[in-house]
Amino acid sequence: MIAAKTQIEPGQLLIEGKWVDGTKSFDTINPATGETLTQIAEASAADVDRAVAAARKAFEDRNGAWRKMSAGERGRLIWRLADLLEKHIDEFAELETLDNGKPIFESRYVDMPMVIDVLRYYAGLATKIHGETINTNETAFTYTLREPVGVVGMIVPWNFPLLLASWKLGPALACGNTVVWKPASQTSLTTLRFGKLAVEAGVPAGVINIVTGPGSIGRAMVEHSGIDKIAFTGSTAVGQEIMRNAAGSLKRITLELGGKSPNIVFADADIDNAVKGAMTGIFYGKGEVCNAGSRLFLESKVKDEFVEKLAARAAKMRPADPLDPKTRLGAIVSREQMQTVLSYIEAGKKEGAKLVAGGNRVSVDGSKGFFIEPTIFGDVKNDMKIAQEEIFGPVLSVLAFDDVDQVLEQANNNPYGLASAVWTRDIKKAHLVSRRLKAGTVWINTYGLMDAALPFGGYKASGFGRELGAHAVEHYTEMKTVWLNMA
Ligand code: NDP
Repeated sequence: MIAAKTQIEPGQLLIEGKWVDGTKSFDTINPATGETLTQIAEASAADVDRAVAAARKAFEDRNGAWRKMSAGERGRLIWRLADLLEKHIDEFAELETLDNGKPIFESRYVDMPMVIDVLRYYAGLATKIHGETINTNETAFTYTLREPVGVVGMIVPWNFPLLLASWKLGPALACGNTVVWKPASQTSLTTLRFGKLAVEAGVPAGVINIVTGPGSIGRAMVEHSGIDKIAFTGSTAVGQEIMRNAAGSLKRITLELGGKSPNIVFADADIDNAVKGAMTGIFYGKGEVCNAGSRLFLESKVKDEFVEKLAARAAKMRPADPLDPKTRLGAIVSREQMQTVLSYIEAGKKEGAKLVAGGNRVSVDGSKGFFIEPTIFGDVKNDMKIAQEEIFGPVLSVLAFDDVDQVLEQANNNPYGLASAVWTRDIKKAHLVSRRLKAGTVWINTYGLMDAALPFGGYKASGFGRELGAHAVEHYTEMKTVWLNMA
């Protein structure tokens, strides 16, 4: 295993611009070795109260530094955060890889560059958030104001720790909100390091507060009367719980939840490109990706050839040291997640799906890390557990189809609706299928591409509210109507 260059400090809580200890602490583990990286502070309910009070104060104080900032100044501050992150990009990428197990190639060349892009996108957008003048009648001057929603609670999962946080932080700050940010307990390191950048960049005290700890901290935020909105990414089960718990305070919520995305290949597609797309679709990020192309639908005519090519590529893709720049499949985030994935592999075997690649835990460099081979099941039926449930690991289910109606019926016959893809050279078919897929994103002849300007989010059990792009502003602002009577 390659030795890390980054010095990792124990984690504290960031409340009102100051780093403070929690009452307890917990270990954060390197999933590639099973060893402890450092200790992270565990916030108490009282710490959540303090963080919310700090965020409220920074938001409400009309003479405070944050409220006095113009939109342009807020934009420059967000840009400064992006610049600082760019300066320290290697360190951030290494921390993300150590904490999550993802290949350094992904952290350094995909995740961190996109965090920087997202921050710069919202830095630019800060000056373009406005209401409208709406002419109603001659004796009225009527207009709308777009005002920040207040204190935003950001609850973030472990698969893209800093990236999914940036999708929330960028619009929250651009709109003039303050935040209380809870990373997943397994992956707090880049959040904590980012907190240091925020202090260095001159973000006013109380604007960004970080509380680390277990799910109960997230729950305390959801139920807290001092928080106006929750922006959540994570599992559908926790999303449902958040919806219930937010009802008491009628909090605004956006939920980006799980997926079981169909990746549909027609016989007329560029098959070699589609094979590469199917590989990226499921094995990028170890398959711990909400929009993973975990259900591969192949037109029967090309199925055997396709599966053969796929299995040959999967056999060459060995899990390896995440810090090695050549690695493309890293370690599963935790022992529990590895066990979940292995139990789905067993379920697939029991249900009679045909294992065509992988299927086992493997050891890398003799470490005790959590590695699983890239795994492919052929001959999967749509009602099998491995076709219906989100596995969140490097496990692909392959299904066959004969015509457009049949594949659409099966593709949409799933609780989720986050993303999807279509591979074909027939442009009309591509667009018709795109319209009929019940999913927040459709890729045509590619898989998984994202851009800070493009909305992302789900249909059905994949949640609601779109992140990224200019529409996100709607979730971080309230709209006020002003009516001046001129009669
Ligand atoms: P969770 O949904 O449990 O966690 C996401 C975030 O919510 C974490 O910060 C977590 O804290 C926090 N949280 C947990 N319980 C509550 C609660 N009751 N109220 C408020 N916040 C809470 O995802 P997991 O990390 O446990 O992953 C489980 C499964 O979820 C995965 O196997 C996968 O299927 C799915 N998932 C989907 C993701 C997506 O992007 N769509 C991302 C991650 C997971 P803590 O980490 O401290 O428990």
